[in-house]
Amino acid sequence: MNTSILTKLSREITRITAIRKLSISNTRKCVAGRKSSSDDTHYDIVIAGGGMVGFAMANAIGQSSRMSNHSILMLEGAPNKSWSLPEEYSNRVCALSQHTQKLFSRLGVWDEIMSMRAHPVRRMQVWEACSEAMIALQHNDMNEEVAHLVENDVIVHALKQRLPPHVKVEYGSKIASYELPTESKERVSISLEEGKTITTDFLIGADGAKSKVRDALGTKYLTWEYDQIGIVATVELSEPCENTVAWQRFLPTGPVALLPLSDTKSSLVWSTTKTKAKDLLDSSEDDFIDELNRALWDENELNQSVENLHGRWMDMLEAVFPGGTGDSRQLPPSIKAIVPNSRAGFPLGLGHALHYVGPRVALIGDAAHRVHPLAGQGVNLGFGDVACLTQTLEEAVLEGGDIGDELHLFKYESERQKKNLALMASVDGLYRLYTTKLTPIVLLRSLGLSAVNAFTPLKKSIISFAEA
Ligand SMILES: Cc1cc2nc3c(=O)[nH]c(=O)nc-3n(C[C@H](O)[C@H](O)[C@H](O)COP(=O)(O)OP(=O)(O)OC[C@H]3O[C@@H](n4cnc5c(N)ncnc54)[C@H](O)[C@@H]3O)c2cc1C
Repeated sequence: MNTSILTKLSREITRITAIRKLSISNTRKCVAGRKSSSDDTHYDIVIAGGGMVGFAMANAIGQSSRMSNHSILMLEGAPNKSWSLPEEYSNRVCALSQHTQKLFSRLGVWDEIMSMRAHPVRRMQVWEACSEAMIALQHNDMNEEVAHLVENDVIVHALKQRLPPHVKVEYGSKIASYELPTESKERVSISLEEGKTITTDFLIGADGAKSKVRDALGTKYLTWEYDQIGIVATVELSEPCENTVAWQRFLPTGPVALLPLSDTKSSLVWSTTKTKAKDLLDSSEDDFIDELNRALWDENELNQSVENLHGRWMDMLEAVFPGGTGDSRQLPPSIKAIVPNSRAGFPLGLGHALHYVGPRVALIGDAAHRVHPLAGQGVNLGFGDVACLTQTLEEAVLEGGDIGDELHLFKYESERQKKNLALMASVDGLYRLYTTKLTPIVLLRSLGLSAVNAFTPLKKSIISFAEA
């Protein structure tokens, strides 16, 4: 290459760099000088659905300094109710992961949640009815929390209090239908049941498992019901204790879980067949408690042939792992009473949208994915969506792009689908693995579970996977 070509190349590079700089600075000026477009009928961003995930999203983008000049509206079908912390616990609670805690700290709502009502979970013990196999998950520092139990109402209230004033919320606004754009330059049109029409540059569907936004997007939705009901209730322990363990026992009819609320109370999530659930929901409180204690303690389902082999397996593990066979089994509490009228049942199923995004639209939370509550991860996945979508939108704004552009949104979709699908597949797999009494399967899962319990590095990965 001779010097004149090198000089030409160098001039060309300088020219292109200068043009790029100019274009970036123009874009930045354009973004900085961007005017929020909002009248009563048009908003830059509309969030459909003001549940836990919708409110978290409204806070995340409302508080973002990069998105401060965007007009934001959240539409919630239910009326606005005044709320103050009731004396009695609600029967709807969630185990919030460490990642959710970090998101909530960033949004400035974690301290508010802790000051209202939240209870630490420091250990999770999972065992089953057909064998003595068990696993205990906890951090090396046993005082470190693996999760926090928080009532859904407390989460929504804290998020509501923290909402910046420029984020508008319209309650009692039931959305009848959506018209999504066919061309990227068009807007989304939203028709409310009351007859009003609103347009937006970007629609976020946070409208739950029966999402109408997902219907409008027209994406395939993989879904099945488990033919199970999740019974929830608040129960009283027979004796007060330092109640920081989340207990879950897999029965052939489905898992029963006790999640700690206080030294004397726990929240029950009992997944069982529809027929059994109906009997349990109709039974007297005393009969219900007897059944619950049986579900936690009864040894009728113990498979003796599996137990004999499992006993020998434990001896082998003892020899292989010098530190022993992992954390030892603790006994669950017994239950003495149920808080009156706290029983309720919810149908359980799985659902996953093939696409989370489309032109000027994105799905988050249960609108995009629905999972069995046995791993306590449903809403945590939704909060993960919130963090990821916010970051995607902020990057689009920083680059001077259009927030509704699918090119940006695909990044959100691929990142979240990787995470959500992996967790959903594990949860569904666990559900299927534990709802069988077939001896070879019971044997394999018992040997597997005890091996994992003895192998600390694998348990650490499980904890980080669940916390993510
Ligand atoms: C028994 C049980 C136990 C669970 N335990 C846990 C747990 O321990 N940990 C965990 O992470 N998850 C748990 N989950 C899952 C968790 O409850 C859900 O993932 C979470 O509620 C989903 O929140 P969301 O905001 O996405 O949807 P939703 O809570 O369904 O909120 C959707 C909102 O949209 C509004 N809406 C819907 N349609 C319209 C419309 N057309 N117009 C206007 N507004 C509309 C609704 O009024 C609602 O407020 C559990 C679930 C069950 C059933």
